[in-house]
Amino acid sequence: MSDSKYRHLVTDMKGGLGWRDLRVDEQRRDPDRDIEITGIDCAVVEGNFPWNLIVVHTDADVYGLGEAFTGPASEYVEFLEPALVGQNPCDVDRLVEHMTQVLSGLGGTAGYSQATVSGIEIALWDILGKVTGLPVYQLLGGKYRDEVTIYADSHAGDALAAGTERDPKEIYSPEAYAKEAREVIDEGFNALKFDLDVKVAPADTATRRLSNDAIEHKVAIVEAVREEIGTEPILGFDLHWNFSVETASKIARKLEPYDIDWLEDPVPPEQPETHREVKEASATPILAGENIVRLEGYVPFLTQQAVDVIAPDIQKCGGLLEFRKIAALADAMGVPIAPHNISTPIGTMGSVHVSASVPNVFALEYHSREVSWWDDLHTLDEPLISDGTIDVPERPGLGVDLNLDTVNE
Ligand code: MG
Repeated sequence: MSDSKYRHLVTDMKGGLGWRDLRVDEQRRDPDRDIEITGIDCAVVEGNFPWNLIVVHTDADVYGLGEAFTGPASEYVEFLEPALVGQNPCDVDRLVEHMTQVLSGLGGTAGYSQATVSGIEIALWDILGKVTGLPVYQLLGGKYRDEVTIYADSHAGDALAAGTERDPKEIYSPEAYAKEAREVIDEGFNALKFDLDVKVAPADTATRRLSNDAIEHKVAIVEAVREEIGTEPILGFDLHWNFSVETASKIARKLEPYDIDWLEDPVPPEQPETHREVKEASATPILAGENIVRLEGYVPFLTQQAVDVIAPDIQKCGGLLEFRKIAALADAMGVPIAPHNISTPIGTMGSVHVSASVPNVFALEYHSREVSWWDDLHTLDEPLISDGTIDVPERPGLGVDLNLDTVNE
């Protein structure tokens, strides 16, 4: 039994459950898979983000590993644990709906709730894989590819910027970006992304507008990077929801000659209509989606053809199965996917399995080039990423285990 402070609220009073209580006590099932969740733990590891690692314990000889997007997962796990203890972890879909229902008072289908659901859901797949002896991708319907292309999130000029009075235009120079891009390519990646929303001139940022000179600085950065690496590597640039439709559209139009693979989050994330305006303003592909969760969140963006590429964050969007639902709708609408990912090797492997299991993923993010011990978090002999790709593992479950020495450190 869970000792969560929310147990009374969630189970005894049914405060979080109400009429749509999706718990099941008895089911017909092969005795080998007749197992129960006995508890859930969440550990926070301080990487370049506070990483939320989740362990789901069972009464069988297996545990599941998952990862929730950075944020208050520990508190949400404590809220959900009493609703899950005693349930069969193999019923992944039902338990996702059960968790979402339990969290409805906390904004179940929105906000941080679905990040926690995602982290637990990934751990359920790991359990199911270990119980059946199959890799997660196989349980998800099989794979389209043996390796997943990884794109490197990259930063130029940051170290130089710290503690100096230098002109930011010198620090975030096109040359600095080109140099960093060369290093990423030399590390073996054939796909990369830079932030393009660095502030290089005084501006009233509340207006979401940029001067023509500020825009030209961004154009010069993109031009320098393309010149350095050529036209072949996948190349994206991120604007982090900062700009107005007219400024974002102007940037997108001026970037047309450089054939970038996407311009990310040009405008605030809420409205498909504003994205569609930017999309229709130029031939530059527009990407959005790291802040959109569940299939319901994607329906307006995809059915209104508001974006060219989507980027669900698999540790946030509702889990692997929810990602598959989103991917199916995207594919039906002719939209490819470059999933957002800032996670440890645990979350990244969850993303690798599901990215291999759908047709339309072309590149998965890696956000930890600056974390020298990222590969120390797993127990595999080799670095996870090799030549800019991750092999889809054949081992049961996620096929990756935590190095507890590194986690404890
Ligand atoms: Mg982004």
